[in-house]
Amino acid sequence: MGITKHNWTREDILDIYHRPLMELLYDAATVHREHHDPNIVQVATLLSIKTGGCPEDCGYCPQAARYHTAIEGNDLMTVSQVKAQALRAKASGSSRVCMGAAWRNVKDGAEFDQVLEMVRTINKLDMEVCCTLGMLTENQAHRLAEAGLYAYNHNLDSSEEYYKEVISTRGFEDRLKTIDNVRKTNVTVCSGGIIGMGEKVEDRVGMLVALSTLNPQPESVPINALVAVEGTPLEDQQPVEIWEMVRMAATTRIVMPKTQVRLSAGRTEMTREGQALCFFAGANSIFAGDKLLTTPNPDVNQDMEMFKLLGLTPQKPFVKKMQPKTIEAKDAKFKPLGEKPKWSRPKYIIERNEVAKQKLKI
Ligand code: SF4
Repeated sequence: MGITKHNWTREDILDIYHRPLMELLYDAATVHREHHDPNIVQVATLLSIKTGGCPEDCGYCPQAARYHTAIEGNDLMTVSQVKAQALRAKASGSSRVCMGAAWRNVKDGAEFDQVLEMVRTINKLDMEVCCTLGMLTENQAHRLAEAGLYAYNHNLDSSEEYYKEVISTRGFEDRLKTIDNVRKTNVTVCSGGIIGMGEKVEDRVGMLVALSTLNPQPESVPINALVAVEGTPLEDQQPVEIWEMVRMAATTRIVMPKTQVRLSAGRTEMTREGQALCFFAGANSIFAGDKLLTTPNPDVNQDMEMFKLLGLTPQKPFVKKMQPKTIEAKDAKFKPLGEKPKWSRPKYIIERNEVAKQKLKI
Protein backbone atom coordinates (compact mmCIF):
# COMPACT_ATOMS: atom_id res chain seq x y z
CA MET A 1 0.00 0.00 0.00
CA GLY A 2 1.09 3.60 -0.47
CA ILE A 3 3.22 3.11 -3.58
CA THR A 4 3.18 5.96 -6.08
CA LYS A 5 1.93 4.67 -9.41
CA HIS A 6 0.95 6.49 -12.55
CA ASN A 7 -1.38 4.03 -14.24
CA TRP A 8 -4.51 4.51 -12.13
CA THR A 9 -7.72 3.84 -14.04
CA ARG A 10 -11.18 5.25 -13.45
CA GLU A 11 -12.34 1.78 -12.29
CA ASP A 12 -9.48 1.47 -9.76
CA ILE A 13 -10.23 4.87 -8.26
CA LEU A 14 -14.00 4.41 -8.28
CA ASP A 15 -13.50 1.18 -6.31
CA ILE A 16 -11.46 3.07 -3.73
CA TYR A 17 -13.93 5.98 -3.53
CA HIS A 18 -16.86 3.63 -2.89
CA ARG A 19 -15.19 1.43 -0.26
CA PRO A 20 -17.15 1.16 3.00
CA LEU A 21 -16.23 4.35 4.84
CA MET A 22 -14.40 2.70 7.77
CA GLU A 23 -12.23 0.70 5.38
CA LEU A 24 -11.56 3.73 3.23
CA LEU A 25 -10.55 5.78 6.28
CA TYR A 26 -8.30 3.02 7.62
CA ASP A 27 -6.56 2.51 4.26
CA ALA A 28 -6.10 6.24 3.66
CA ALA A 29 -4.80 6.83 7.19
CA THR A 30 -2.36 3.93 6.76
CA VAL A 31 -0.99 5.36 3.49
CA HIS A 32 -0.85 8.80 5.13
CA ARG A 33 1.32 7.55 8.00
CA GLU A 34 3.72 5.83 5.59
CA HIS A 35 4.58 9.16 3.98
CA HIS A 36 3.72 11.97 6.39
CA ASP A 37 3.64 12.87 10.06
CA PRO A 38 -0.12 12.73 10.78
CA ASN A 39 0.17 15.50 13.38
CA ILE A 40 1.66 18.06 11.02
CA VAL A 41 -0.53 20.17 8.75
CA GLN A 42 0.68 22.84 6.37
CA VAL A 43 -0.88 26.28 6.76
CA ALA A 44 -0.94 28.37 3.59
CA THR A 45 -2.31 31.87 3.10
CA LEU A 46 -4.06 32.78 -0.13
CA LEU A 47 -3.75 36.40 -1.16
CA SER A 48 -5.70 37.95 -4.01
CA ILE A 49 -3.13 40.32 -5.52
CA LYS A 50 -5.41 41.36 -8.39
CA THR A 51 -9.13 40.85 -7.93
CA GLY A 52 -12.02 40.72 -10.40
CA GLY A 53 -12.47 41.76 -14.01
CA CYS A 54 -11.37 38.39 -15.37
CA PRO A 55 -12.25 37.69 -19.02
CA GLU A 56 -12.79 33.94 -18.44
CA ASP A 57 -16.18 32.33 -17.81
CA CYS A 58 -15.47 29.78 -15.03
CA GLY A 59 -19.03 29.07 -13.84
CA TYR A 60 -18.06 29.00 -10.16
CA CYS A 61 -16.06 32.21 -10.04
CA PRO A 62 -17.31 35.58 -8.77
CA GLN A 63 -14.26 37.27 -10.33
CA ALA A 64 -15.40 36.68 -13.91
CA ALA A 65 -16.27 40.11 -15.31
CA ARG A 66 -19.34 38.75 -17.11
CA TYR A 67 -21.16 37.73 -13.91
CA HIS A 68 -22.92 40.22 -11.69
CA THR A 69 -21.50 39.58 -8.24
CA ALA A 70 -20.81 41.85 -5.29
CA ILE A 71 -17.04 41.52 -5.69
CA GLU A 72 -15.02 44.70 -5.48
CA GLY A 73 -12.21 44.47 -7.96
CA ASN A 74 -8.76 45.89 -7.36
CA ASP A 75 -5.68 46.53 -9.49
CA LEU A 76 -2.45 44.69 -8.88
CA MET A 77 -1.25 45.21 -5.30
CA THR A 78 2.11 46.85 -4.67
CA VAL A 79 5.13 44.86 -3.54
CA SER A 80 5.09 46.57 -0.14
CA GLN A 81 1.39 45.75 0.39
CA VAL A 82 2.10 42.12 -0.40
CA LYS A 83 5.13 42.08 1.90
CA ALA A 84 3.05 43.45 4.78
CA GLN A 85 0.40 40.74 4.25
CA ALA A 86 3.04 38.02 4.00
CA LEU A 87 4.62 39.13 7.29
CA ARG A 88 1.19 39.06 8.92
CA ALA A 89 0.57 35.55 7.56
CA LYS A 90 3.98 34.38 8.82
CA ALA A 91 3.29 35.75 12.29
CA SER A 92 0.06 33.75 12.43
CA GLY A 93 1.70 30.44 11.53
CA SER A 94 1.59 30.31 7.72
CA SER A 95 4.62 28.85 5.97
CA ARG A 96 3.34 29.50 2.45
CA VAL A 97 1.86 32.47 0.64
CA CYS A 98 -0.12 31.81 -2.52
CA MET A 99 -0.71 34.89 -4.68
CA GLY A 100 -3.66 34.79 -7.04
CA ALA A 101 -4.33 37.18 -9.92
CA ALA A 102 -7.57 37.08 -11.92
CA TRP A 103 -5.87 36.80 -15.29
CA ARG A 104 -6.51 34.46 -18.24
CA ASN A 105 -2.78 34.14 -18.80
CA VAL A 106 0.43 35.84 -17.86
CA LYS A 107 1.63 38.61 -20.16
CA ASP A 108 5.21 39.86 -20.16
CA GLY A 109 5.40 43.48 -19.04
CA ALA A 110 5.39 45.76 -16.01
CA GLU A 111 2.70 43.83 -14.10
CA PHE A 112 4.47 40.48 -14.44
CA ASP A 113 7.75 42.16 -13.44
CA GLN A 114 5.96 43.40 -10.32
CA VAL A 115 4.76 39.87 -9.52
CA LEU A 116 8.34 38.60 -9.96
CA GLU A 117 9.45 41.20 -7.43
CA MET A 118 6.74 39.99 -5.02
CA VAL A 119 8.07 36.45 -5.42
CA ARG A 120 11.62 37.62 -4.63
CA THR A 121 10.40 39.56 -1.62
CA ILE A 122 8.43 36.70 -0.05
CA ASN A 123 11.12 34.10 -0.72
CA LYS A 124 13.53 36.36 1.18
CA LEU A 125 11.12 36.20 4.14
CA ASP A 126 11.86 32.44 4.17
CA MET A 127 8.32 31.52 3.22
CA GLU A 128 7.27 29.20 0.40
CA VAL A 129 5.88 31.29 -2.46
CA CYS A 130 3.15 30.01 -4.74
CA CYS A 131 1.44 31.86 -7.60
CA THR A 132 -1.76 31.26 -9.49
CA LEU A 133 -1.78 33.61 -12.46
CA GLY A 134 -3.46 31.65 -15.25
CA MET A 135 -1.80 30.11 -18.25
CA LEU A 136 1.92 30.36 -18.49
CA THR A 137 4.61 29.83 -21.14
CA GLU A 138 7.79 27.90 -20.47
CA ASN A 139 9.89 31.09 -20.47
CA GLN A 140 7.53 32.73 -17.95
CA ALA A 141 7.77 29.64 -15.75
CA HIS A 142 11.58 29.91 -15.86
CA ARG A 143 11.39 33.59 -14.91
CA LEU A 144 9.23 32.75 -11.89
CA ALA A 145 11.64 29.96 -10.95
CA GLU A 146 14.61 32.34 -11.10
CA ALA A 147 12.75 34.78 -8.83
CA GLY A 148 12.45 32.01 -6.22
CA LEU A 149 8.95 30.60 -6.79
CA TYR A 150 8.34 27.39 -4.84
CA ALA A 151 5.01 26.29 -6.38
CA TYR A 152 2.65 27.16 -9.21
CA ASN A 153 -1.07 26.49 -8.86
CA HIS A 154 -3.12 25.59 -11.89
CA ASN A 155 -6.23 23.57 -11.09
CA LEU A 156 -7.75 21.02 -13.46
CA ASP A 157 -11.07 21.84 -11.73
CA SER A 158 -12.91 18.63 -12.75
CA SER A 159 -12.75 15.73 -15.20
CA GLU A 160 -11.97 16.59 -18.82
CA GLU A 161 -15.59 15.78 -19.73
CA TYR A 162 -17.21 17.94 -17.02
CA TYR A 163 -14.74 20.79 -17.53
CA LYS A 164 -16.67 21.58 -20.73
CA GLU A 165 -19.82 22.15 -18.66
CA VAL A 166 -18.13 24.72 -16.45
CA ILE A 167 -15.72 26.73 -18.61
CA SER A 168 -15.95 27.49 -22.31
CA THR A 169 -13.18 30.03 -22.75
CA ARG A 170 -10.20 27.67 -22.53
CA GLY A 171 -9.55 23.99 -22.91
CA PHE A 172 -8.50 21.25 -20.50
CA GLU A 173 -5.42 20.68 -22.65
CA ASP A 174 -4.33 24.30 -21.96
CA ARG A 175 -4.28 23.45 -18.27
CA LEU A 176 -2.11 20.41 -18.90
CA LYS A 177 0.21 22.43 -21.14
CA THR A 178 0.76 25.04 -18.41
CA ILE A 179 1.48 22.30 -15.86
CA ASP A 180 3.94 20.84 -18.34
CA ASN A 181 5.64 24.23 -18.72
CA VAL A 182 6.00 24.49 -14.94
CA ARG A 183 7.50 20.98 -14.88
CA LYS A 184 10.36 22.19 -17.09
CA THR A 185 11.60 24.18 -14.07
CA ASN A 186 12.27 23.32 -10.42
CA VAL A 187 8.97 24.87 -9.36
CA THR A 188 6.59 22.36 -7.75
CA VAL A 189 3.08 21.83 -9.10
CA CYS A 190 -0.13 22.48 -7.18
CA SER A 191 -3.25 21.29 -9.01
CA GLY A 192 -6.62 20.09 -7.84
CA GLY A 193 -10.25 20.93 -8.30
CA ILE A 194 -13.70 21.67 -7.02
CA ILE A 195 -16.50 19.34 -6.00
CA GLY A 196 -20.15 20.33 -5.81
CA MET A 197 -20.47 21.94 -9.24
CA GLY A 198 -23.14 19.44 -10.32
CA GLU A 199 -20.64 16.83 -11.48
CA LYS A 200 -21.02 13.09 -10.91
CA VAL A 201 -18.72 11.00 -8.73
CA GLU A 202 -17.25 9.68 -12.02
CA ASP A 203 -16.11 13.23 -12.82
CA ARG A 204 -14.42 13.65 -9.44
CA VAL A 205 -12.69 10.36 -10.05
CA GLY A 206 -11.87 11.41 -13.64
CA MET A 207 -10.08 14.45 -12.23
CA LEU A 208 -8.11 12.22 -9.85
CA VAL A 209 -7.15 9.98 -12.79
CA ALA A 210 -5.88 13.04 -14.70
CA LEU A 211 -3.85 14.24 -11.68
CA SER A 212 -2.50 10.90 -10.47
CA THR A 213 -1.35 9.78 -13.92
CA LEU A 214 0.84 12.87 -14.26
CA ASN A 215 4.47 11.88 -13.79
CA PRO A 216 5.54 13.25 -11.38
CA GLN A 217 2.27 13.67 -9.54
CA PRO A 218 1.50 17.21 -8.28
CA GLU A 219 3.24 18.02 -5.01
CA SER A 220 0.00 19.67 -3.77
CA VAL A 221 -3.62 18.88 -4.55
CA PRO A 222 -6.21 21.36 -3.28
CA ILE A 223 -9.71 19.95 -2.85
CA ASN A 224 -12.32 22.71 -2.87
CA ALA A 225 -16.00 22.41 -2.03
CA LEU A 226 -17.92 24.86 -4.17
CA VAL A 227 -18.87 28.07 -2.42
CA ALA A 228 -21.95 29.00 -4.44
CA VAL A 229 -21.77 32.77 -4.90
CA GLU A 230 -24.84 34.79 -5.84
CA GLY A 231 -24.60 36.10 -9.36
CA THR A 232 -22.53 33.19 -10.70
CA PRO A 233 -24.11 30.49 -12.89
CA LEU A 234 -23.59 27.95 -10.10
CA GLU A 235 -25.29 30.09 -7.42
CA ASP A 236 -28.06 27.51 -6.83
CA GLN A 237 -25.82 24.49 -6.27
CA GLN A 238 -26.44 22.73 -2.96
CA PRO A 239 -23.44 22.47 -0.59
CA VAL A 240 -21.57 19.16 -0.70
CA GLU A 241 -21.95 16.86 2.27
CA ILE A 242 -19.00 16.37 4.59
CA TRP A 243 -18.91 12.68 3.65
CA GLU A 244 -18.13 13.64 0.08
CA MET A 245 -15.19 15.77 1.22
CA VAL A 246 -13.95 12.97 3.48
CA ARG A 247 -14.18 10.41 0.67
CA MET A 248 -12.46 12.79 -1.73
CA ALA A 249 -9.61 13.53 0.73
CA ALA A 250 -9.14 9.82 1.49
CA THR A 251 -9.20 8.75 -2.16
CA THR A 252 -6.76 11.52 -3.12
CA ARG A 253 -4.42 10.41 -0.34
CA ILE A 254 -4.44 6.78 -1.52
CA VAL A 255 -3.82 7.54 -5.20
CA MET A 256 -1.28 10.31 -4.54
CA PRO A 257 0.50 9.12 -1.39
CA LYS A 258 3.22 11.78 -1.21
CA THR A 259 1.24 14.86 -2.18
CA GLN A 260 0.03 17.54 0.23
CA VAL A 261 -3.75 17.24 0.15
CA ARG A 262 -5.18 20.67 0.89
CA LEU A 263 -8.62 21.48 2.27
CA SER A 264 -9.36 24.69 0.44
CA ALA A 265 -12.61 26.54 -0.26
CA GLY A 266 -15.71 25.46 1.64
CA ARG A 267 -14.13 25.01 5.09
CA THR A 268 -16.51 27.53 6.67
CA GLU A 269 -19.31 24.99 6.06
CA MET A 270 -17.34 22.22 7.78
CA THR A 271 -17.44 21.50 11.51
CA ARG A 272 -14.24 20.81 13.43
CA GLU A 273 -15.29 17.17 13.61
CA GLY A 274 -15.67 17.10 9.83
CA GLN A 275 -12.25 18.68 9.32
CA ALA A 276 -10.72 16.26 11.85
CA LEU A 277 -12.07 13.35 9.79
CA CYS A 278 -10.50 14.86 6.67
CA PHE A 279 -7.14 15.18 8.46
CA PHE A 280 -7.44 11.56 9.59
CA ALA A 281 -8.22 10.61 5.98
CA GLY A 282 -4.98 12.21 4.80
CA ALA A 283 -5.62 15.91 4.27
CA ASN A 284 -2.49 17.68 5.52
CA SER A 285 -2.78 21.26 4.41
CA ILE A 286 -5.26 24.11 4.82
CA PHE A 287 -5.68 27.60 3.54
CA ALA A 288 -5.77 30.10 6.40
CA GLY A 289 -6.94 33.71 6.50
CA ASP A 290 -10.43 35.14 6.66
CA LYS A 291 -10.82 35.15 2.87
CA LEU A 292 -9.97 32.71 0.09
CA LEU A 293 -9.44 35.14 -2.77
CA THR A 294 -13.00 36.46 -2.46
CA THR A 295 -15.01 33.86 -0.52
CA PRO A 296 -15.16 33.55 3.29
CA ASN A 297 -12.79 31.28 5.23
CA PRO A 298 -12.45 30.46 8.96
CA ASP A 299 -10.62 33.00 11.12
CA VAL A 300 -6.93 32.18 11.74
CA ASN A 301 -7.46 32.14 15.52
CA GLN A 302 -10.24 29.58 15.13
CA ASP A 303 -7.89 27.44 13.04
CA MET A 304 -5.15 27.67 15.64
CA GLU A 305 -7.65 26.69 18.35
CA MET A 306 -8.63 23.69 16.24
CA PHE A 307 -4.95 22.76 15.81
CA LYS A 308 -4.52 22.89 19.60
CA LEU A 309 -7.60 20.78 20.17
CA LEU A 310 -6.47 18.14 17.67
CA GLY A 311 -2.79 18.25 18.69
CA LEU A 312 -1.71 19.42 15.24
CA THR A 313 1.43 21.44 14.51
CA PRO A 314 1.83 23.78 11.51
CA GLN A 315 4.38 22.50 9.00
CA LYS A 316 7.65 24.45 8.74
CA PRO A 317 8.57 25.84 5.31
CA PHE A 318 10.85 23.92 2.95
CA VAL A 319 10.60 20.55 4.71
CA LYS A 320 9.51 18.76 1.50
CA LYS A 321 11.94 20.52 -0.84
CA MET A 322 14.85 22.95 -0.46
CA GLN A 323 14.27 26.68 -0.54
CA PRO A 324 14.84 27.98 -4.09
CA LYS A 325 17.49 30.65 -4.65
CA THR A 326 16.35 34.11 -5.65
CA ILE A 327 18.12 35.62 -8.65
CA GLU A 328 17.77 39.37 -8.89
CA ALA A 329 16.17 40.85 -12.02
CA LYS A 330 19.45 42.34 -13.26
CA ASP A 331 21.19 38.92 -13.10
CA ALA A 332 18.33 36.89 -14.59
CA LYS A 333 19.16 34.56 -17.46
CA PHE A 334 15.59 34.39 -18.75
CA LYS A 335 14.39 37.64 -20.27
CA PRO A 336 10.88 38.61 -21.36
CA LEU A 337 10.19 37.33 -24.88
CA GLY A 338 6.92 39.19 -25.41
CA GLU A 339 5.34 35.92 -26.58
CA LYS A 340 1.74 35.81 -27.71
CA PRO A 341 0.87 32.13 -27.34
CA LYS A 342 -2.35 30.90 -28.91
CA TRP A 343 -4.18 29.45 -25.92
CA SER A 344 -7.38 27.85 -27.11
CA ARG A 345 -10.88 29.34 -27.00
CA PRO A 346 -12.98 26.22 -27.48
CA LYS A 347 -16.35 27.96 -26.92
CA TYR A 348 -17.98 24.81 -25.57
CA ILE A 349 -21.75 25.03 -25.72
CA ILE A 350 -22.81 25.25 -22.09
CA GLU A 351 -26.53 25.07 -21.48
CA ARG A 352 -26.48 27.95 -18.98
CA ASN A 353 -24.83 30.23 -21.57
CA GLU A 354 -27.50 29.35 -24.11
CA VAL A 355 -30.24 30.11 -21.57
CA ALA A 356 -28.61 33.47 -20.80
CA LYS A 357 -28.44 34.30 -24.51
CA GLN A 358 -32.13 33.45 -24.90
CA LYS A 359 -33.02 35.73 -21.99
CA LEU A 360 -31.08 38.60 -23.56
CA LYS A 361 -33.03 38.19 -26.83
CA ILE A 362 -36.29 38.58 -24.86
S1 SF4 B 1 -11.27 31.10 -11.77
FE1 SF4 B 1 -9.56 32.38 -12.39
S2 SF4 B 1 -9.61 32.27 -14.63
FE2 SF4 B 1 -11.64 31.59 -13.95
S3 SF4 B 1 -12.91 33.45 -13.95
FE3 SF4 B 1 -12.05 33.22 -11.89
S4 SF4 B 1 -10.21 34.47 -11.88
FE4 SF4 B 1 -10.77 34.11 -14.02
